Amino acid sequence: MFVLINILTVLFTIIAMECLSWFIHKYLFHGPLWFLHKSHHQKAKSFFEWNDLFALLFAGLSLLLMYIGRKNFDYRFFVGLGITLYGLIYFMVHDWFVHRRFKTFKSTNTYLLAVRKAHKMHHKNRGREKGKAFGLLFVRKDLIS
Ligand SMILES: [Zn+2]
Ligand SMILES: [Zn+2]
Repeated sequence: MFVLINILTVLFTIIAMECLSWFIHKYLFHGPLWFLHKSHHQKAKSFFEWNDLFALLFAGLSLLLMYIGRKNFDYRFFVGLGITLYGLIYFMVHDWFVHRRFKTFKSTNTYLLAVRKAHKMHHKNRGREKGKAFGLLFVRKDLIS
């Protein structure tokens, strides 16, 4: 039972993080935090962008939670683990596959191609306003073909 609850906590956190990052992306990144996120909507001048700071922030948060919850392996540890895994998935899908920061991840997987299509829709708009497709992993059905 204990193990099952921990696994569910991790899975729930991953799903919650996708919902949360939709919200943060739409209302904070394209809102008051645009000054940092803007770098991700412009042509990259170097390998790193100011937008990468957000990844550090989430990595810090997840490490902190895992550290606080490490003694008894309580729920905070597994929430932290979920955030870490979400971060890894996000990095692989968004940075590695969609934006090709490393040119090594290619795929013809229908789901991944739909994710890429949806995220490219988001990037069509270089400005702060009138954005579309703020989420990453949940893709509208009509984009999957
Ligand atoms: Zn954006
Ligand atoms: Zn992007």
